[in-house]
Amino acid sequence: MTVDKATGVPARTSLRTQIIVRGALRSLVIAALLCLASYYHVAGMLEDGVVEQLEQFIAERGRRDSEPFLQTERHHRAVEQALLEQLQSVPLATGAALFDDYFEPWPDGTWRTRTGWYEGQLFKDGLQHRGFTGFIGRDVELTPQLRHRAALIAALLDWYGSAWTSTGQYINYFVSAPENLLVGEFIGVPYLHQVPADSYFPDEIFVARANETQNPQRQAVWTHFYFDATAKMWMLSSLKPVYLQDRLVATLGQDILLDDFMQRTLKDALDGTENIAFSADGSLIAYEPLLAEIQAAGGTLKIDGDQPQLQGIFAAVAGQQRRSGVTETDEAFLAYTRIDGPDWYLVNIYPKQLLQDKAVAAATIILGIALLGLLSEFAVLWLLIEQYVLAPLRRFIRVTEKVGEEGLSALQGSELPRRPDEFGRLASRFRETASELEASRQALLAVNRDLDAQVAARTEALTQANQRLATLAITDELSGLHNRRQFQQVVPQELARLARLQSTPLWATLAILDIDHFKQINDRYGHAVGDQAIRQLGACLAALHRRAGDHCFRLGGEEFALFTSAEQVDGDKLQAFATHLLEAVRSLAIEVSQPEQTGRLSVSVGIACVQANTELSLESLYKLADDALYLAKQSGRDQARIVLLSGSGSGSGEQATTLELGVH
Ligand code: GH3
Ligand code: MG
Ligand code: MG
Repeated sequence: MTVDKATGVPARTSLRTQIIVRGALRSLVIAALLCLASYYHVAGMLEDGVVEQLEQFIAERGRRDSEPFLQTERHHRAVEQALLEQLQSVPLATGAALFDDYFEPWPDGTWRTRTGWYEGQLFKDGLQHRGFTGFIGRDVELTPQLRHRAALIAALLDWYGSAWTSTGQYINYFVSAPENLLVGEFIGVPYLHQVPADSYFPDEIFVARANETQNPQRQAVWTHFYFDATAKMWMLSSLKPVYLQDRLVATLGQDILLDDFMQRTLKDALDGTENIAFSADGSLIAYEPLLAEIQAAGGTLKIDGDQPQLQGIFAAVAGQQRRSGVTETDEAFLAYTRIDGPDWYLVNIYPKQLLQDKAVAAATIILGIALLGLLSEFAVLWLLIEQYVLAPLRRFIRVTEKVGEEGLSALQGSELPRRPDEFGRLASRFRETASELEASRQALLAVNRDLDAQVAARTEALTQANQRLATLAITDELSGLHNRRQFQQVVPQELARLARLQSTPLWATLAILDIDHFKQINDRYGHAVGDQAIRQLGACLAALHRRAGDHCFRLGGEEFALFTSAEQVDGDKLQAFATHLLEAVRSLAIEVSQPEQTGRLSVSVGIACVQANTELSLESLYKLADDALYLAKQSGRDQARIVLLSGSGSGSGEQATTLELGVH
């Protein structure tokens, strides 16, 4: 993990990661929305396509599956028309005579068609007629009219029977008469030669279903489908009663094989869908899940409450006006068509889930493509950000870090990008700002240097002024000697220093001098001369008192003080000192403006000499000297009085002894 040098904060994520992650999240949301939109779009398109496909499919199936039934109805119409024509146009005698060409009496009392009509017989027209058999019950009265009709019926079978049964869709074609007569072509079977003599066909379902009682409308009718035990096949009978002058003269019949229809209904459906066939009255014909029950019931299994889904389908389809089309329930699209003839419905059930699955598959592919696109786009973005943003930014960071360590000079020859975009402009602005900053810094440094110099000069001046002030503070202006303040400062320090040297007690000597009759000097020569005399005396005392540790003060007015110390002191030495002092002063002449007038200057001196100890104070030393001065003044002036005080002088311990001396 990198750490930001300036802030010390760990740089957990880079700009690029943030851009890519946030961009990716937003793009994913957009991709998901696109995917959702495409799902609904595709679902809508698929629905349209599927409905169209279903419409075509079911219309085609309707036409195809109706064809055998329609064909049978055409057979019936053709035979009906021919029979009625023949019955009216062929003379009775001709027809009756023809009867013997077709029928012959059997020993069992019945009349049956001659075997040649089944086995094959070459006729005058050069064709071999074969294929049909006929039966007339034994109790039937063979009137000329019946013989006429039976002959014409047989002739029609001769003409049409083979044609009507040649397509493989039909197992037979037959014509019956209500007098228990039946002629028919039953493929491969001489059926009416095999039936027992007492057979009575008018009661058989494939005849009776069309008779007047069961079919008062006298229309073509269809039986329920049934399993024919003889043919061992599922079939359906189409019957058509033929009336001549309001009399039932024949019933036309054809059995249609249902196996193909069943197979197509059960197997031939679009992938993922299933077919169902039911009749208009709600009887199931074919439906895979209920196949066994349907066939067991022989076409009479009604859709009931046990199959709500089928009930829904039936309700949705049975009410439709169109012959074929597509309707829907909640779960499925229903492509329906009528099967003409028996009035059945064929329905293809197309689950909507199938459509959704396809839409989901399409949307998933779109999502996959979108994600791939996004992935490659972000990969390119990743590289572009690196190249165009991060690389120059890192250079900026390196440069700023270097500037932080080395200062603005680090910018010289730095790797800041030079390019014609925002980074280039930023870098150039950075350089400009840096050089402006550098110029300001140099200017500031110059000002600082100037200020330093000024401050140093001022400080020096101030120091000198302070020193002068300090000197002034301790110096007497007129004489140049230290003043009274300095006297009060220095003498106690000296006394304390002398007192600390206890092993060799030193002697402190204070002499106070006062010019005699100075008032008169002022009065006589003027104040300026008085000042001059003070200066002269100050210079003289300073010259006399040059030893280290000697101090000379002007205490104020015309009063001066001398302080000195010595290891050994006695009266002689002190007298010599006083004499020397007096002489030095006496030698001074007061300079006045008139050359002929000179005045002699004299002083009175009080000297106190005391062995220094810790109890000796300036005040007590001064008092001794001042008292001595007073005595000198009292004694006539121009003289010195000396007080030498040996012993502690504090009154405790050894006795203090005072030696008082006078010097003139
Ligand atoms: P004495 O012998 O008793 O000391 O007599 P004196 O005249 O010296 O007496 P006093 O000490 O009373 O007089 C001091 C005179 O010194 C008073 C004053 O006019 C004069 N004086 C004090 N300071 C100055 C000064 O600075 N300059 C001048 N010219 N005169 C001063
Ligand atoms: Mg005085
Ligand atoms: Mg005086």
